[in-house]
Amino acid sequence: MVGRHAIGCEGTHGVFPQCNLTCKPCYHSSDANKVRIDGEHTVREVARQMAYLRARRGPRGHAQLIGGEVSLLTPDDHAAVLHVMHDHGREPMSMTHGDFDYDYLQRLAVGPDGRRRFTRLSFAAHFDSLMRSRRTMPRPRTEADLHGPRRAFVQMFARLRREHGVRSFLAHNMTVTPANLAEVAEVAHAASMMGFSMLSFQPAAFVGDDRRWDGSYREITNDDLWTQIETGIGTRVPYAGLQFGDQRCNRTSFGFMIGSTWHPLIDDTSPHDLAARDTFLTNLGGITLGGVPKWVAALRLARGVAAHPHVVPVGLRYARGLVQRAGGLGALRHGRVWPMTFVLHAFMDAADVAPAWAMLQDDQVSEDPHIRATQERLQACVYTMAHPETGMLVPACAQHAVLDADENAQLRTLLPIIPVVADQCTCSTAGVPTLDGAGHGSSSNTCR
Ligand code: SF4
Repeated sequence: MVGRHAIGCEGTHGVFPQCNLTCKPCYHSSDANKVRIDGEHTVREVARQMAYLRARRGPRGHAQLIGGEVSLLTPDDHAAVLHVMHDHGREPMSMTHGDFDYDYLQRLAVGPDGRRRFTRLSFAAHFDSLMRSRRTMPRPRTEADLHGPRRAFVQMFARLRREHGVRSFLAHNMTVTPANLAEVAEVAHAASMMGFSMLSFQPAAFVGDDRRWDGSYREITNDDLWTQIETGIGTRVPYAGLQFGDQRCNRTSFGFMIGSTWHPLIDDTSPHDLAARDTFLTNLGGITLGGVPKWVAALRLARGVAAHPHVVPVGLRYARGLVQRAGGLGALRHGRVWPMTFVLHAFMDAADVAPAWAMLQDDQVSEDPHIRATQERLQACVYTMAHPETGMLVPACAQHAVLDADENAQLRTLLPIIPVVADQCTCSTAGVPTLDGAGHGSSSNTCR
């Protein structure tokens, strides 16, 4: 898909590395929580990164606002960053642990003047039982313990739409280790009915803060995880039809729910579907359909079809097959229809990425098959971060495995958390700053 229709995903880095949960694993570097959240810095750096992505990768893209916990930004700063990302042609998605209230969401979506700032918001919320310190479920014992917080998260956005007309796209992220693999089916089944439109599963990797590594992550394979997803959804989830980057990193299956039943958009065993895919990519693949109003996308598509009329019968055959597969038009009576995409994204271990990345910088190909495989995956990466200061576009794996630690060490100096003044503090361990109740490092910090 990448290079024929899509450009892959983008993400921010080095902006607000802090987080107020204590998960195992945690991909943030050990210095991340020693950096102050600073809205001005975040807006300025995101603007630089987005401008660079636009210059290097083109006028439209999907970019994740990530690097720490996004809800630690004030609502106004968060809104300002989203505007900056839109201004650079990026469709932003805010990455969160989801542990914030409706008041925060409302103040993000609606300005102090009472007018909504966005017509649509995208969030990816991370929920899994490896996470600790969530206010509503500090120590989940099972994945099912988190169904309440999962539903509450989605319901906030439903309320936002009711009260302010702001639509949303919601993704659910889950880290998977041997400890919770057997519960993936249950999560896939339950979360697919909650109101999310994407369920993304990430096998855990040894990257980030090594004090938070816990377990033998490499015991599970992508196939193990995908089997769990299929068990939960109750059907085959074909992913080979539309490949983004390297299959060892990514599996994606687009589809839609009708009631409680999921249907794939591309069945990789259907000749009609594969012919339609190839015809689309060959004749219409260069048309940008995302990030523009629907009527503009429709107009562009119509113009493309007019220039390549032979795509029409292929498209009609595909559409007929899709409708039949979904049970005919009568199936629409069986319930609500909404998009549902399944994703597997397997980050790599820092111990592999570091040598592979170093050799790539010297144009060397490793003779070690394992490191060579890591290099191939880095070269096919579909998740890019921008370094305008060095003129580099960096795979997220290299960012987290190699660059984050130094970057956060520098940020720690640039944006120090203001030390607590001893005589303002009444506790016995005065002088050790930590986060206040809202997670914002400031002079109002409590001590630990
Ligand atoms: S190289 Fe890393 S960041 Fe890039 S697609 Fe593969 S797993 Fe994802």
